[in-house]
Amino acid sequence: MREGIAILGATGSIGASTLDVAARHPERFRVVGLSAHRDVERLAALCEQHRPDYAALADATRAPELEARLAAAGLDTRVMVGPQGLMELAALSEVDVVMAAIVGAAGLQPTLAAVRAGKRVLLANKESLVMAGPLFMREVRERGVTLLPIDSEHNAVFQCMPPDFDRGLDSVGVSKVLLTASGGPFREATADSLKAVTPEQACAHPNWSMGRKISVDSATLMNKGLEVIEAHWLFDVPPERIEVVVHPQSVIHSLVAYTDGSVLAQLGNPDMRTPIAHAMAWPERIEAGVAPLDLVEVARLDFQAADKVRFPCLRLAYEAMEAGGTATAVLNAANEVAVAAFLDEGLAFTAIPLVIEETLAALGTAPADDLETVVAWDRQAREHATSLLARHGRRRHTA
Ligand code: NAD
Ligand code: MG
Repeated sequence: MREGIAILGATGSIGASTLDVAARHPERFRVVGLSAHRDVERLAALCEQHRPDYAALADATRAPELEARLAAAGLDTRVMVGPQGLMELAALSEVDVVMAAIVGAAGLQPTLAAVRAGKRVLLANKESLVMAGPLFMREVRERGVTLLPIDSEHNAVFQCMPPDFDRGLDSVGVSKVLLTASGGPFREATADSLKAVTPEQACAHPNWSMGRKISVDSATLMNKGLEVIEAHWLFDVPPERIEVVVHPQSVIHSLVAYTDGSVLAQLGNPDMRTPIAHAMAWPERIEAGVAPLDLVEVARLDFQAADKVRFPCLRLAYEAMEAGGTATAVLNAANEVAVAAFLDEGLAFTAIPLVIEETLAALGTAPADDLETVVAWDRQAREHATSLLARHGRRRHTA
C-alpha cells in the first residue's frame, strides 16, 4: 500500500526537497495534497508535475486564479482555501503522513490539525514547538502520534538517541544533547560591521540553501535559539543539558552524549533530503539523491563556542525558555516581525535583537496551556514589535 502524503508549504525549500524524495519512490508514496501561501503559479506547476488530489491555498483571494490554471491544465485537483482549508487538507482520510513545512507561526494550526487527526507528522515547522511546546507535545502523546523531526539537528539527535528515549534521559543514560551550528554567514564578522549587513548578505548561507526567513535566523543565530527550544520539547531535555557548538563545515548535524563518556554523532553532506528521507521511510532507509559523504574531501572538522554577545538572539532564546509560558511565543512573534522588517523595509540587522528584547520585557509571560492564549499573545507581541520598528530606524528601501 502506498502512503498518502500531504505537504504543507509545498512551494518552499523543504517542500521542494520533500517532493524530490517522494518522486524517487513512486511505489511507496502518493502525493495527496499540496499547500501554498499565495504563489499560485508555483503551486499550479507542482500540481501539473505531481498530480495531487487536493491543493490548498492560504490566501483565499487567489483561489479563482488557481482554479483557472488547474482547469486550463486539464487537472481535476480539488482546491481548498484559507487557513481552514490547510487544516482540512492535513486531516483528510486519504492522508497518512503530513510534512509540516510552512514557515513561521502560520504553521502552528495546520500542524496541530495533523496531530489531532492522528497523522504521522514530519515536523520542519519548528515555530510550532517554540510557540506552543507543552500543548503540542501533550496532543502528540494523547493521540499516540508518531512525530519525526526534520530539522537536521533534531533529526540527527533522534538518530543518535536510544529508541526508548521517551522513558526519560536519565533512565537511558543520556547526559547531554549537543546541537551544532554553522555560525551563519557572519561567523567571523566584527560586531561593528554587522550594523550594515544587507538582506542579500544575510540570506547567503555558507552551507545550506533555505527560505529567506530561516536564512536570516541562521545569520542572527536565532535559528539556533529556536532549535534549543525545539530540542527541549522534542526530547524533554532541560535547557542546561543542551549545548550549542559552532561547527562551520555543517557535516556533523548534532550529537548525543552518554553517561559512560560515549558521544554519538550523525554526519552527512548538508542536504535536507537526508533528514526528509529518514523521516519519510522511518524505521526503514531509502535512497535520497544525496551525494555520499567524502571525509577525505571534508578533511577537517572544526568546533568553537557560540558567541552570545555578538549574537544576542541566542541569549534571548535561552532567556525566553527559562521564563517559560508565553515568553517563547512572544520571542517568536517579535522575531518574525523584526526579520520581515529587516528583509523588506530596511530595519538594521543589529536592531532585530533589540526589537525582540524590548517586546519580551514589555509583555512579560503567562501560563500557555491552551491555543487561544498562545494565539492572543502572538498577536499582542506582533503589535508591540511593530510599534517599535519606527523607533529602531525602519526605512523603506528606495529603488
Ligand atoms: P520557505 O520560505 O522556502 O517556504 C515556506 C512555505 O510556507 C511556502 O510553501 C509558503 O507558501 C508557505 N507559507 C508561508 N507563509 C504562509 C502562510 N501565512 N500560510 C500558509 N502557508 C505559508 O521556507 P523553508 O526554508 O522551506 O522552511 C519551512 C520551515 O522549515 C520553517 O519552519 C523552517 O524553519 C523549517 N526548516 C527549514 C530548513 C531548510 O533547509 N529550508 C531546515 C530546517 C528547518
Ligand atoms: Mg536546523
